[in-house]
Amino acid sequence: MKEFTDRVRWGNTHIPYRYRYTKRKTLGISVHPDLTVTVKAPEGTSPEAIRAKVRQRVAWIRKAWREFELYLPKQPDRRYVSGETHRYLGRQYRLKVFEGPENSVKCLRGYFWVITTDRTPTAVQQLLETWYRDHARNIFRGRLDACYRLAARENIPEPMLRIQKMTNRWGSCSDKGRILLNLELIKATRDCIDYVITHELCHLKEKHHGPRFWKLLEKLMPDFEQRRKKLNLFADV
Ligand SMILES: [Zn+2]
Repeated sequence: MKEFTDRVRWGNTHIPYRYRYTKRKTLGISVHPDLTVTVKAPEGTSPEAIRAKVRQRVAWIRKAWREFELYLPKQPDRRYVSGETHRYLGRQYRLKVFEGPENSVKCLRGYFWVITTDRTPTAVQQLLETWYRDHARNIFRGRLDACYRLAARENIPEPMLRIQKMTNRWGSCSDKGRILLNLELIKATRDCIDYVITHELCHLKEKHHGPRFWKLLEKLMPDFEQRRKKLNLFADV
């Protein structure tokens, strides 16, 4: 059966979908565990009409994505100027930017103190991101080791860890046994970081979100549901 692809835009997010025509009378939209969206449309429905229908269901699609996965909604735009708040491990810190002879970043007593030779937002952003990355490397490594101690009992292979900036998810894993964590995750609390790591560890044994996957996750982390909710709430701030 012939299948077409299209997408709708929602803010900065694109929602791609596949659609095909069927004998049904009404249009049906499905979100699958691998996060793909498919549409079954009655014969003769125009692509514009399909697009309009998908657009109407954007909130529902996004909700389904979150239910299925570690979906990261669009983060607030940052200006990287004094007074703005930035998070680290779930806490908020107010940014203070000073000009100085050398670059340095310190997180101290409720503030991010950034001393920079160049006060442009891009330069400040880069300094902060380097700081986050340095800290993420240690923290994520430590959390992975802690989470893996439980996972090892379930014969889950020990993964490699990579940190990367991603726009739409908190984490993912590869067939080659590597766990990828979003640098943004360093802004969440440790229990949320552990949830993302454990979620991905489970994928190394159970690739898809089938009943076996959720059972394994629940065994390793009985309160994963609360952590997932907390992570989603955090992302909305
Ligand atoms: Zn997953």
